[in-house]
Amino acid sequence: MLRLTELKLALDHTPEELERAICERLEIEQADLVRFAVARRGNDARKKSAIKLVYAIDATVRDEPAVLARHVDDQHVRPSPDTSYRFPVMAPHDWSGLRPVVIGAGPCGLLAALILAQMGLKPIIIERGKAVRERTKDTWGLWRRSVLTPESNVQFGEGGAGTFSDGKLYSRIKDPRHLGRKVLVEFVKAGAPDDILTEAHPHIGTFRLVTMVMSIRETIESLGGEYRFQTRVEDFEVEERDGARKLKGLHLSNGEFLPASHVIMAVGHSARDTFQVLHDRGVHVEAKPFAIGVRIEHPQSWIDKARYGPFAGNDILGAAAYALSHQAKSTGRTVYSFCMCPGGRVVAATSEEGRVVTNGMSQYSRAEFNANSGLVVDIDPSRDYPGGPLAGVAFQRKWESLAFTAGGSNYKAPGQKLSDVLAGRASSGEFGAVVPSYQPGVQLTDLAQCLPDYVMQSFREALPVFGRQVPGYDHPDVILTGVETRTSSPVRIRRGDDFQSINTAGLYPAGEGAGYAGGILSAAVDGIKVAEALALDLLQREKMS
Ligand code: FAD
Repeated sequence: MLRLTELKLALDHTPEELERAICERLEIEQADLVRFAVARRGNDARKKSAIKLVYAIDATVRDEPAVLARHVDDQHVRPSPDTSYRFPVMAPHDWSGLRPVVIGAGPCGLLAALILAQMGLKPIIIERGKAVRERTKDTWGLWRRSVLTPESNVQFGEGGAGTFSDGKLYSRIKDPRHLGRKVLVEFVKAGAPDDILTEAHPHIGTFRLVTMVMSIRETIESLGGEYRFQTRVEDFEVEERDGARKLKGLHLSNGEFLPASHVIMAVGHSARDTFQVLHDRGVHVEAKPFAIGVRIEHPQSWIDKARYGPFAGNDILGAAAYALSHQAKSTGRTVYSFCMCPGGRVVAATSEEGRVVTNGMSQYSRAEFNANSGLVVDIDPSRDYPGGPLAGVAFQRKWESLAFTAGGSNYKAPGQKLSDVLAGRASSGEFGAVVPSYQPGVQLTDLAQCLPDYVMQSFREALPVFGRQVPGYDHPDVILTGVETRTSSPVRIRRGDDFQSINTAGLYPAGEGAGYAGGILSAAVDGIKVAEALALDLLQREKMS
């Protein structure tokens, strides 16, 4: 099979036109095209009057060597890559060793547990939050009734932080083994729409994510895995001998001690208590850079028009997204859009009482009125929180608490109109052309109360620039809602080439919380890599003993 890339066709092309274009491009007769499938489809909207669909096609042709030879200098005609997944090791059928443990049932923990289960290693999954259906009720409790359940919310519970999200499934990670493909294939088996396998920028949306994580649970359990919900890992038992440290087991919130020699720690970026315990137990933890800012909202129709011009609202293109970045000269900081949710809503995403955190979600249809995106500024430990490995957590808490107060101390979020951000004055009165979607509500105020000066200053410089790139972006009524502090983990739990903590054998820090992923797909891919490393080590040790 060969892969043909960068094949461009008009938006309204017919299936026959696609087939003809493939043949023309490969310089073959239609009879010589045995079959073909779309490997990927994106769009090129740089010229708004002539937006094109851009395909990658896998084609089976007669006399493939001759076709490849004719196109030897054409980088867009190549043999198709082998994207199939192969397990690096399998447990023997009668395997009955000490079961590996996965802490956290987010995308990283779920894929790690799934791979371990598929390899025959019957993992135990420990999850502090509730199973996803019950968790959904608690999450909506904050949005609808201003009641936060600290152990069951947007951050904690089955499915992890990305469950109530736009479910964007793309990432810029290097992926030479096509592990991202394995993730997408498993997601489709679990009920995700087929098009995530071919769309250049796939997304799933919240409702489907909920049923998918339930389906993955059924698969893991059918392979001998075991879930323990509403059970928090509270402490780590580490043995020290001859200067070497080795994990012996876990203390759970139900009082149980769970012996364990191989543990994947996929706790996400909001497990602040767990970071503290790890640090207290001498596990190597270090502060890492992340970003803070706000959510910014526009009517989706403005973004569609700015990006797609006359094709705004076209069904094939769907709701338009954007990605913006600006280097602010006045502060030396990068301001950028983050986790854009077309046709979605801003959500309350705190996991701690007395704090306000924003994030965004959408459904598969992306049909809600507003577009939202994080608008964030980079920060780093040396400049902004130099107080040690956990200083980034203290930094986040400070601004989240100030946001809670600025919002009225009732889980409403503080918001400000863009014109007032630029003028450096508080907002008050009525909303204008943009009505914010955040529930339980937005309190108009001055975001300078709950964000560092350099963030506000960076916004003032970047917003007019972004307005020139996306007309309407800097409309005076656009609403900024704060604070977006959980953009990625404030710590890295450093691991070695064997994927184990650099100073505690048997502990496999993984996913976003450990600082090795950012987003659903990269966290899930990291889960696979870590599960493979764990399985190889576990089975090798058992063979030797
Ligand atoms: P998490 O998903 O955070 O999972 C960690 C799990 O560990 C949680 O379930 C938690 O309850 C559990 N846990 C924590 N501590 C303990 C403990 N001590 N004991 C037991 N269990 C514990 N990314 C995208 O790519 N696309 C998007 O569209 C997107 N939208 C998002 C929208 C929202 C509202 C949020 C909050 C995030 C979004 N993200 C998105 C980010 C994405 O969700 C994360 O990058 C991803 O979930 C990280 O996966 P993870 O498995 O590493 O950690």
